[in-house]
Amino acid sequence: MGLPMPSAWEVAAQLGVYFVVEDYFNYWLHRALHCRWCYEHVHRVHHEFTAPIGFAAPYAHWAEITSHDIFKF
Ligand SMILES: [Zn+2]
Repeated sequence: MGLPMPSAWEVAAQLGVYFVVEDYFNYWLHRALHCRWCYEHVHRVHHEFTAPIGFAAPYAHWAEITSHDIFKF
């Protein structure tokens, strides 16, 4: 009929690897955006929002949001 579904163990393992890899790349991408030129021209917008809430994470320059989406694919 169709492809077999992965086991719960396979799903949990893949999600675990995904979260680690995704967090790793987000950390280094964010860190790279703190270079002088990137911070002054692009990343500064992201740090204008000082409250540590979820809505602040995507508050960024359009170029930063676009670059994050491109690098994730
Ligand atoms: Zn930053």
